[in-house]
Amino acid sequence: MTRDQRFWRLLTLVEDYYTTGERTAGDPPAVRFRGASAPADAPAAPAPATTDQADAGAADSLARVAVEVAACRACRLCGGRTSTVPGEGASQALVMVVGEGPGREEDRSGRPFVGPAGQYLDRWLAAIDLQRDANCFITNVVKCRPPDNRDPLPDESRACLPFLQRQIRLLRPRALLSVGRIASQVLTGRDAPLGALRGQVYHYAVAGSPHSLPLVTTYHPSGVLRNQSLRRAVWDDLRLLQRVIAADGDSPPATSASAPG
Ligand code: URA
Repeated sequence: MTRDQRFWRLLTLVEDYYTTGERTAGDPPAVRFRGASAPADAPAAPAPATTDQADAGAADSLARVAVEVAACRACRLCGGRTSTVPGEGASQALVMVVGEGPGREEDRSGRPFVGPAGQYLDRWLAAIDLQRDANCFITNVVKCRPPDNRDPLPDESRACLPFLQRQIRLLRPRALLSVGRIASQVLTGRDAPLGALRGQVYHYAVAGSPHSLPLVTTYHPSGVLRNQSLRRAVWDDLRLLQRVIAADGDSPPATSASAPG
């Protein structure tokens, strides 16, 4: 690890300790980050800062994004939320998982993917040696629950996108995994059904940065819970993700993996 990397890591540890009260013993590979969530009556805030605007002010951080999400009123979804759900996970994540938006359980708890779909997602990740708090960051395209679990509308996704872009740029994971049609369409920029989007690796251009990140798309866990015939495709996508991570890193995850049930 270079001096620069050590410095940024130390800064992140300190920041996480002061913003979330969490600290890790020793010299762990990752620090858990759990963002602030806020009740619906949080004070009004201006539209989310773009990556460039965030740069112009104080150094951006996951904690700052979470605080802004908690105060955001940029779209109609703020009116129905109990909590905002900015996302959570390791601050040095190998993979960022992006879903579409919080459901009922997530809206109650302020945490992403904690209902049945989230438990199923955890099994997918475990099948390729990933764990949500240890080496993943889990978030959504929109950070507030759409009413009756409907799909986020295009203007809602657009309004929330700067938050996701900033999270991606701050975390710079080795790879992105979008789950479901909405997240996959938003991240690939293509208006196609998931069956046509999956099965390939995209280069996601990181906003406000010269870098791009590999992106793998797959079905949404709740869709697969309803239609088990999609499991084979998901498994193929997870193996693809595993190869992408291994190709980029110097300590690839174990190649032995067993398919999730
Ligand atoms: N579905 C999603 O897309 N995201 C969640 O956080 C929960 C369910």
